[in-house]
Amino acid sequence: MNVQEHIDAFGTVDGELRIGGQPLSRLAARVGSTPFFAYDRGLLDARIDLLRGLLPSRVELSYAMKANPMPAIVQHLAQRVDRIDVASAGEMRHALDTGIRPDHVSFAGPGKTPAEIRQAVAAGIIVEVESSTELGRVVTAGDRLGVEPRVAIRVNPDFAVKGSGMRMGGGPQQFGIDSEQVPELLRSFAGGADVLGFHVFAGSQNLDAEIIAEAQRRTVDLVAQLAGSLPAPLRYLNLGGGFGIPYTERDARLDLEAVAENLERLVSGPIAEHFPEAGPVVELGRFLVGECGVYVTRVVDRKVSRGRTFLVVDGGLHHQLAASGNFGQAIRRNYPVALGNRLAIPADEEMSVVGCLCTPLDLLADGIPLPAGAAIDDLVVIFQQGAYGLTASPTAFLGHPAPAEVLV
Ligand SMILES: *Cc1c(COP(=O)(O)O)cnc(C)c1O
Repeated sequence: MNVQEHIDAFGTVDGELRIGGQPLSRLAARVGSTPFFAYDRGLLDARIDLLRGLLPSRVELSYAMKANPMPAIVQHLAQRVDRIDVASAGEMRHALDTGIRPDHVSFAGPGKTPAEIRQAVAAGIIVEVESSTELGRVVTAGDRLGVEPRVAIRVNPDFAVKGSGMRMGGGPQQFGIDSEQVPELLRSFAGGADVLGFHVFAGSQNLDAEIIAEAQRRTVDLVAQLAGSLPAPLRYLNLGGGFGIPYTERDARLDLEAVAENLERLVSGPIAEHFPEAGPVVELGRFLVGECGVYVTRVVDRKVSRGRTFLVVDGGLHHQLAASGNFGQAIRRNYPVALGNRLAIPADEEMSVVGCLCTPLDLLADGIPLPAGAAIDDLVVIFQQGAYGLTASPTAFLGHPAPAEVLV
């Protein structure tokens, strides 16, 4: 997907990027400082509408809030999704602060401590156990607190999903309980928690609809085999998510209609047949928020070094680690970048955008076309920054101030 398509998604006004209905330079003046992250409510709502319009109505949407835990976003989404998935006790508190029903909050992630599990059980959320040890901790916590904990078993499937940016299931994993161990675990389970069902999360950032569809089919097959070992009918079926977004020019959009058609077949077929009491859950982070946000930095210097033009901006990898290629360890490709206050001027001169950190790794865009007149005080915009931006970056590195975040 090219940068123009990202610009078009936000729209333009007076030759500038439009965010939250206003021109970028006016928004920057209102925020009062750069760099900042801006998230567009209208795009967020459009994303929810897209999913609700295409996915079968029985499918429940869960927001995996580690993608963007900004309280205003979590609050906004809590009114529009069915569930929130949290990955720490801290996230759990933010989720519960929105007023969402506790039994619509799920807690996944390895290494949950006894203290975190006690908090989760006391709050009445669904603990997705990643090991038999965690199941034991849940039962102990319920016993001490005098409540029956809600539990789902996170299963490490016996299949792997190709094409995921991050594989989180199949083979040896720190995530979930190996599927072949689940029947024995449930046979030896002596009670003390309400085991609602299963969670299978095979991987993240997948742009191939057919692979996602196959993972969902295999997940339903696997759960159909495992459900017989449950002490009660299955009431919770979390199919994971993994819906990817296009980060670079070579990425094409996920074919959501194809994913939705496959889900429709599963919902009206095997899910209706085997699990009449479970509304299947699809759990999404970046697909909900990633495309709704931008990172805005201001040009503080422009220099030419041996024929190459550099725009030096006041932000950098300390706020946007992924755009730099994760400390240079991954193969880095340019994220979509534009000069957000000069969209009417053709971008026809090659430049690099670098951050203000004293490391060559602080490269935000490498040799991309930008308007020749790019100058100090112009606003460089990086797209696809609504997920895994600020909270997934090393903000303490070099001691610059934290950026603002606004939902507009
Ligand atoms: C991180 C995570 C997600 C969200 O992944 P995205 O790629 O942002 O959609 C969903 N479920 C679980 C269990 C996760 O760990």
